Amino acid sequence: INSKLPNVGTNIFSHIGKMANKHKAVNLSQGFPNFSLDPQLLQLVEKAIKTGHYQYAPMQGIFSLREIISEKTENLYGKSYNPESEITITAGATQVIFTAISAFVQQGDEVIVLKPAYDCYEPTIELFGGTVVPVQLNGPEFKVDWKEFESAINSDTKMVIINTPHNPSGTIWSREDMLRLQDILKGTHIILLSDEVYEHIVFDGKFHQSVSKFPDLASRSIICSSFGKTFHVTGWKIGYCVAPKVLMEEFQKVHQFNVFCINHPIQKALATYLQTPRHYLHLSSFYQEKRDYFLEAIRESRFRLTPSSGTYFQLLDYSEITNETDTDFAERLVKEHKLASIPVSVFNLNNQDNKQLRFCFAKTNDTLDRAAEILNRI
Ligand code: PMP
Ligand code: GLN
Repeated sequence: INSKLPNVGTNIFSHIGKMANKHKAVNLSQGFPNFSLDPQLLQLVEKAIKTGHYQYAPMQGIFSLREIISEKTENLYGKSYNPESEITITAGATQVIFTAISAFVQQGDEVIVLKPAYDCYEPTIELFGGTVVPVQLNGPEFKVDWKEFESAINSDTKMVIINTPHNPSGTIWSREDMLRLQDILKGTHIILLSDEVYEHIVFDGKFHQSVSKFPDLASRSIICSSFGKTFHVTGWKIGYCVAPKVLMEEFQKVHQFNVFCINHPIQKALATYLQTPRHYLHLSSFYQEKRDYFLEAIRESRFRLTPSSGTYFQLLDYSEITNETDTDFAERLVKEHKLASIPVSVFNLNNQDNKQLRFCFAKTNDTLDRAAEILNRI
């Protein structure tokens, strides 16, 4: 077969997840919570099924859900998106990313991706004939070198993809970062794909800087979010995107043939559940407690770290422990110590190895204790 993605193999999450199961390891690799969702949300889904919401939903998503998303975005970020024409419910954020790239990126277009980057961006760009233009994030804060970023832009640049709070580093963008980006993109026709799936998980009293808060960015952006992350239900694969009408029209042209529509009863349940802002506003403090619990438990370990500022991931630097590559070390941790994590090089430019592993702390305290006990022994 003449593969369209000759350099792509099985992704890291499937690979490490399988190893973790085989070796019965404590699994802090793939990002998913190992605790239950709110029983109230489950009841709402049951109710939606029992009251017959099990046929196709409208292509854009049910109106009541789009309406409450519009309200939430306006209340949080001061930007109003029209629920009729500027919001689409999707099969998770992955589908937003895939559909947006397929709708806008053509043969020969360049797409700037900040590295390390979540793994689904680049293969999708390649699949649609685009060229990935990587720009490395630097230092423990994973900062953008704006000069380098600016020099990566040219007349072929069709899209820029950004992600804050950032997977895998747990860093977040500041208001100044957004203003700088806004300045650089001003006067261009570049589309911004802003991956904000961890928008409700930001620590230490800081605020999520959504691109929707910055008018000149918002006017060129497709923004994605994920209910999987926000409501501890990653397996439900449901999320949404917001974008100005001109961009959303193009997005929906593809979306209607990509999935047509999304799980109806879950949309119905979420439309009610989202009416209580506490259901998502408590998430930052909930996960900050988890982060602090985990970091306190590994205080005596030989790993070095900068505390995560958002997401449910924590990077640990093991350079004082061993010289092994991060992939070798991650695999040995699973086999010998029964602890699974993700090597950061898989997200990096040229698979650069900075001796860092990513750990997911969206776990019960009992699981975090078991992981810490292993990390403290190494
Ligand atoms: N973007 C980032 C940065 C993510 O971490 C994830 C989840 N792993 C996604 C997108 C995909 O989200 P979903 O599960 O809703 O498709
Ligand atoms: N987003 C999750 C992570 O980064 C996993 C998603 C996936 O398995 N593709 O761990």
